[in-house]
Amino acid sequence: MGTLRLPYNGRVKLESPFGNRILNGVPGWHAGIDLVGLDEKIIRAPCDGVIGVSTMIPRESDKTLTWQWGKYVRLDCADGMKIYMCHMEQRLVSAGQTVKAGDVLGVEGNTGYSFGSHCHFEVRPAGMSSGVDPTSYLGIRNAVGIYENPKTVAVSSSSGTPGDGNVPHEWAKKYVEWAIAKGILRGDSAAKPNYRLNDGVTREEYCVMLGRFAEVLDELYSSD
Ligand SMILES: [Zn+2]
Repeated sequence: MGTLRLPYNGRVKLESPFGNRILNGVPGWHAGIDLVGLDEKIIRAPCDGVIGVSTMIPRESDKTLTWQWGKYVRLDCADGMKIYMCHMEQRLVSAGQTVKAGDVLGVEGNTGYSFGSHCHFEVRPAGMSSGVDPTSYLGIRNAVGIYENPKTVAVSSSSGTPGDGNVPHEWAKKYVEWAIAKGILRGDSAAKPNYRLNDGVTREEYCVMLGRFAEVLDELYSSD
């Protein structure tokens, strides 16, 4: 899916995956993933949303285990999903604040039940009271490793039709127009181009493109 961005800029180490794990010799369920920023310790919004919670619950007054999260921020997404980012050193947002993806939320830390600076990252889709595997939303594997957000591609701001981002860069123009004219870009036509500069291509679409390209070659080189 990959609808969320990793909550850091630069490289991020996933050091403890979602699911069953042993922590300090005790088997347990890990309802999120543990992330460590390698280039930056600033924690950023994984999507647009509203800050639902920004707090720390003292252990003494806690009837649940929420104190374990230390200083944490909950970001509420438009679709009802709630994202928890925990163990912060510093919280830099307040409840009710509106944020955009990439905005600063806080600083990675080691507060609460934590054994080293990291961010416990937990995703609860609308209506769910426990975390699901967040890695599919982030477009990464649920495995220890180093990950990074995809580099963002600048979208053309020119007023192409039918919408922004439909106008190819100069260096790509000739080939994009050729591919549209030959019907290689599925769903596109010269009359109504549907070319979006920052579109992802699925494997299915890629196969269609390859197949269509092979057909075009046949048309070019067939002896008639
Ligand atoms: Zn964790």
